[in-house]
Order: sequence, then C-alpha cells, then structure tokens
Amino acid sequence: MDQGSVHASPAAEPIYDCIVIGAGPGGLQAAIYLGRFNRRVLLLDRGGGRTAHAKAIENFLTQPSITGKRMIELGLEQARSFKVGIETGMVTSVTKQENFEVAAGSKRFLSRFVVAGTGIYDIIPPLGNLAPFFGTSFFTCIDCDGYKTIGKKLVVMGDTIETVRLAFAMRELYTGDVSLVLSGPEPPEDYREELRNRGIALYLGVPGRIVGMAGMEAVELKDGRQVAANAVMANFGFKLNDSYLKDVQLKRSSNGSIVVNGNYESSLNGLYVVGPLNTGHDQAVIAAGQGAVAAIDINKRLFEF
Ligand SMILES: Cc1cc2nc3c(=O)[nH]c(=O)nc-3n(C[C@H](O)[C@H](O)[C@H](O)COP(=O)(O)OP(=O)(O)OC[C@H]3O[C@@H](n4cnc5c(N)ncnc54)[C@H](O)[C@@H]3O)c2cc1C
Repeated sequence: MDQGSVHASPAAEPIYDCIVIGAGPGGLQAAIYLGRFNRRVLLLDRGGGRTAHAKAIENFLTQPSITGKRMIELGLEQARSFKVGIETGMVTSVTKQENFEVAAGSKRFLSRFVVAGTGIYDIIPPLGNLAPFFGTSFFTCIDCDGYKTIGKKLVVMGDTIETVRLAFAMRELYTGDVSLVLSGPEPPEDYREELRNRGIALYLGVPGRIVGMAGMEAVELKDGRQVAANAVMANFGFKLNDSYLKDVQLKRSSNGSIVVNGNYESSLNGLYVVGPLNTGHDQAVIAAGQGAVAAIDINKRLFEF
C-alpha cells in the first residue's frame, strides 16, 4: 500500500478528504487533481474495467494512439507522484453517517467525500471465439471504434430497434458494406424498407460464434447461417458497475443512470459520480473532464470543514 498522510479521527481511524473508487480515466483524473491540491486521497480499484480492454484509444487529446492499459499505468504513476494512496480492492459498500464509510473486503475506510468512477460493462451474449477479436475487430462503441470500421465488411448485431439505427449510422459514416444481425423483435416495415434502400442485408437470428483465426471471416448464427464479416459492431446495451451503492438512496434517471448536478455530485451530499455511471457516454476524455470538475468542487468544499 502506498498512502498519503491522513488525519486521525478520535478513534484513531484515518479520515481521508476523499476516497476515489475506480482507477479509470474518471477516477484517476479526480485523484490526480485532489492529490495535487495536497488533499488526503485514497484511490481504491479492483483491477480490470473498460479502459483496460481498449486496445487503441485514438481520440484523446495529445495521444494519437494509446492502449487503455498504458493510460491507466501512466495515470497511476501520476497519482502516486502527488501522494495519492492506492489500494487494490473490490469496493462492496458505501454508507454515510457523519462521514462516508467505504468497505473493500474486510477493510473499512472513512472519508468526507467520495468520487465514484467505476464505469459500466457491456452486455454481450455468449459468443464462441470472441476473445481474439474483442477490441481489434469486434467493437461495442461507435464513438470509440466506429472509425476503425472504415471500408470494412461490417456486421452490426444487437437486439433492439436502436441496433437498426446503429446500422444506418454505420452505413452513413463508415462503410458501404453493412449486414444487420438482429436477435430482438422484427423491425417495423418502414425500417425494413429503409434497410433495403440502403443495401443493408437483414438476418433475424441469434449470433453463435465468430469464424476466423488470424482474422475475422464471418459471424455464424446459431442456426448455422454464416454472414461474411471482418468487423463487428455489437449493441446489446450495458450495465452499471454500481452494486456497492445499493445502501445509499440515489436519484436515478429512467434508464438507471445516476442523476448528478453540474459538478457531478449525486443526490447524496458529498457523493460525486463521474463517467458513464451518470450519462452512459463512455469516453475517456469525458470521464476525465468530469473527474477534474468534481475534484475542483470537492477541494472548494473542503475549506468548509
Ligand atoms: C474495447 C474498448 C475500446 C474503447 N475505446 C475507447 C476510445 O477509443 N476512446 C475513448 O474515449 N474511450 C474508449 N473506451 C471507453 C473508455 O475506456 C472508458 O470506458 C471510459 O473512459 C470510462 O471511464 P471510467 O473511468 O468511467 O471507467 P472505466 O475505465 O471503466 O474504469 C472503471 C474502474 O473502476 C474499477 N471498478 C469497477 N467496480 C469497482 C468496485 N466495485 N470496486 C473497485 N473498483 C471498481 C474497474 O476495475 C476500473 O478500473 C473503450 C472501451 C472499450 C471496452
């Protein structure tokens, strides 16, 4: 454990100014700002996460191409240089009385503020032979990786009408060769007509596996049909990594995202939520920007203690 200096409570338990949960771009940026404000900060992370899976982030200012892993390594190094305490651990609960109590395994930590930056995870149906292609030719985020499908033989797959709209967007922006594999309800006739007009072949069925070894060759449906492809854009939705927030009442929007104010503070006083947990927009630069805003606000409010 690498830890900055901390205040001692009457019970001799250290009280951090802020505990940051999640070492993705959102949490790391908040930790770096707060560390550099000379505050007492603890960053808790379980390892893994979406950024760790990004093979080449190409849309972050000053970074023509960087792996997510490298971005995290550099962020952790930078946070350590400002004396941010860093612990590996899965946070299982956050509660609040006078201070926040954050539990990670058998350990308990106290803080005045909390920044939650634990991100989301993609829902992907079980697909054989996915691992070799995930992040290099099997994508889940148009904002991140749409550009990497330029000129490709693309399969768009998913289970809602949103997926049909995604197929239209991919056809318009990136490639003239799009097929749609839809495992949800059949699209209405006007959508089917538009698919025909745009030359997008529709396959109703459930994808079973990716065919190919050195490169992707096709998507095979569970009924045995194969759709030629050298790239996939999948769209089965996502879930929030927020189970540790089960004990606190938070205002949520209709899709479950956590409602925040302009400084990314949730409806619970002192709990800030950054990154796709609040908007669903899953971009490194957005999460990092929100982490910076939250940290600046927390720093100002710490003068009141
Ligand atoms: C394949 C792929 C490609 C991508 N490409 C791009 C791209 O090109 N450009 C771009 O801007 N973004 C890209 N992204 C998205 C980006 O990597 C992040 O998802 C986004 O920046 C959100 O950051 P975050 O900090 O909110 O969350 P994340 O990066 O998801 O980090 C969350 C962190 O919280 C930790 N965590 C989760 N739950 C707990 C818990 N209970 N206790 C402790 N720690 C926990 C995780 O281990 C993780 O380290 C891509 C994502 C993927 C999967």
